[in-house]
Amino acid sequence: MLKTDVLIQGYPGRAICHGGLGWSTTTLLRGEGSNILVDVGAFGVRHLLRQQLRDLQVEPADVTDVVLTHAHYDHAVNFTLFPNAVIWIGGRELAWAAAQPAGFNPLPELYVRELDVSPRVRRVADGQEFLPGFTAIAAPGHTPGHLLFYVTATEKPVLFTGDAAKNRAELLSGMVNDTYDAQASRASLDLIWQWWRREPDTLLVPGHDVCMRLDAAGQPVYVAERKAAMNAWFGETLEPAVIDLCCAGQTARYSA
Ligand SMILES: [Zn+2]
Repeated sequence: MLKTDVLIQGYPGRAICHGGLGWSTTTLLRGEGSNILVDVGAFGVRHLLRQQLRDLQVEPADVTDVVLTHAHYDHAVNFTLFPNAVIWIGGRELAWAAAQPAGFNPLPELYVRELDVSPRVRRVADGQEFLPGFTAIAAPGHTPGHLLFYVTATEKPVLFTGDAAKNRAELLSGMVNDTYDAQASRASLDLIWQWWRREPDTLLVPGHDVCMRLDAAGQPVYVAERKAAMNAWFGETLEPAVIDLCCAGQTARYSA
């Protein structure tokens, strides 16, 4: 049985004057000799990610697997920090990403190049059980080879949606922002709902939001409080202004 710790909770926001925040979710599943990270975040989380792992007594060298929903920088670039990990990514995703020229988009072209040649990378196919209790499910749209992961190696099933469902608003509206193929994204959202409803108490881990379960009426309910704030230096000293980005209280890391 694996234990689930959401190390960094994603945030459903975008800066109005400065583009994407890239604040995505990183989750650790550990037990039975494995330390499995699902998505590993952008450069900005490196210090925090190290601290979160240290708090759980997990060394970077102890991470056995890095599982990537898709190739975007805010989910993928930190795979380089786990020297002993096998890296799992959709075969279709990597083939697509590696064929793209450098562009004004969230693909980290140099990291994709490394993924494409690294002997540590394993390419995953739709429907494949690539680790015990981890099934990959094709969910194209946000990117052509995006994968969901349905995990049954935990006490209750866990469904990782990555950016196929970035947040609660996308799940409830049936519409998405930032898609390569809007029709495919809608079909992928339908698929997510099917998998989410399969078993009661299935935990849904979205790419950019707090984790959710379905209540008795079938509505998504957050399992933790949102936490997001910024320091900013607007004055003449190093005393920062603290800007709350969620208008709500503080919360602890989600553990189950
Ligand atoms: Zn993405």
